[in-house]
This record gives sequence, structure tokens and C-alpha cells, in this order.
Amino acid sequence: MKIRVIGCSGAEFPGHNPPSFLLDKEIVFDAGSITNVLDRKAQLKIKHIFITHAHLDHILSIPFLADNIIVGNSGRTITLYSIAPVIRTIRTHLFNSEVWPDFTLIPNPREAILNLTALKAGRMITVNGYSVTPYKVNHPVPAVGYLVEDRGGKRFFYTGDTGPTRQTWKQAGKRQLDALIIDVSFPNSMRELAITTGHLTPELLWEEIKHMPFKPQRVYVTHLKPQYSRKISAELRKLPLRHLKILKDGDTIRI
Ligand SMILES: [Zn+2]
Ligand SMILES: [Zn+2]
Repeated sequence: MKIRVIGCSGAEFPGHNPPSFLLDKEIVFDAGSITNVLDRKAQLKIKHIFITHAHLDHILSIPFLADNIIVGNSGRTITLYSIAPVIRTIRTHLFNSEVWPDFTLIPNPREAILNLTALKAGRMITVNGYSVTPYKVNHPVPAVGYLVEDRGGKRFFYTGDTGPTRQTWKQAGKRQLDALIIDVSFPNSMRELAITTGHLTPELLWEEIKHMPFKPQRVYVTHLKPQYSRKISAELRKLPLRHLKILKDGDTIRI
């Protein structure tokens, strides 16, 4: 599996793009920064978008991508997946013909640019040969992470945004992960803020990993607040984790 890190930042600054992870060419996890990073050709290849939750930094590119498709007259359609409450929020507050045109009806309801598809937590679907299962995580709004497995049994879990979430590992961690892509937004000194806003610090990450039935082969850290990235990086380096990498925009993860 080849995952291109389009964006992995916990805030937006030049060179720091909100979360989007491209699996091969057609599947994206979170849509924080598709249209501001990928060129037209790469944008038009996207067919499936899995959203972890409806916070703006994870859905920001969907309206612009839909607009680029209709203007480009490519006849492309995109399926957008998440759990029902997330789909409901996107439908009600984003594609409501006020904030943005309703691309679930454009150009016509049968061939609409966006097909919103509700998933059930814990229930697997298959897309392009990958098994994808959403599992609930801990965030102030309804949110899931995605367990993805290829035909050869390689698997990764992308948490999206999460605070401490033991229940998730009980369900999604029954077998060893080849890669865990996990939120660490704040330094250890901001533990309380991290917990109330549903994120992790380096210490909280270590506590999560200690509770996993199987330690992941590799840990990739995402969603750092750029304002604290040096502090967070120094704290992460002190953890007794051998295969830990702090992601940067433009990285490639090979599993
Ligand atoms: Zn969030
Ligand atoms: Zn976020």
C-alpha cells in the first residue's frame, strides 16, 4: 500500500495543510487539503473519500473539488463515506444551497457529483480491493478512524482526530497493525486542553499504545499544531518507540 500524505497538519499555515491521505490514486482519507495541493489531473482521479468527522479542517476541500468537477465537465462522480451523523452534518451545513450549491443533486439527482454514503461503525465495506472498517474514536463530535486492509493482509489504522480511546483498540486492535497513523496535536504541558478537545499529547499517545493488545509495527504521528511542533517532536523522540515517524506534508507511507 502506498499512501501519499497530502496534508497532515493540525492547523493551516503556508506549507502546513490540513489532513488528507491519498491511498493509491482514487481513495482519500479526510479532505482537508485536496484542491490546494493536487493538480487538476490528480483531483479528477479521486473516486472515494472517507471522512473521519465533520470538523472543517477535515472536509474543507470537498466543496472546491465538486466545483472543479462540474466546471471541468468530466462526468466524474465521487462517493463520500462516513458514519450517519457526519453525513447528516455535511448535508445540512455544507451542501445546503446556502453555504455551497447542493452537489448531491447537481447536475441531476441520478448522476450527481457527490454520492453521500452512510457507514455503520464496525461494519466493513470493500473499495478497490481494500477492506475499510470505521471504528468510533474519542472526539467532541461524532468521529471514526478507519482500519484498512489490503488483499495481502497488510493493514493500517488512521485515527483522524482522537483523544484517549481505549475502546477503539479493543475493537480495531485485535490483530497487529502494520502502521498506525495517529493524532498527536499538543505538547505534554497542554494535556488538559488535549483531553477536552479530543486530541493526544506524546504522553497520552504512549498510554494508548501501552493499552493496545498488539503494538503497531510503525507509528506515524499526524495533526501536530505547527506552533508547538518542535516541542512535540522533542517529547516524541523521548518515547521508547523505535519505529515512530512524525509526518510532514508530501511524505509517502509504504506498507
Ligand atoms: Zn476535529
Ligand atoms: Zn482536525
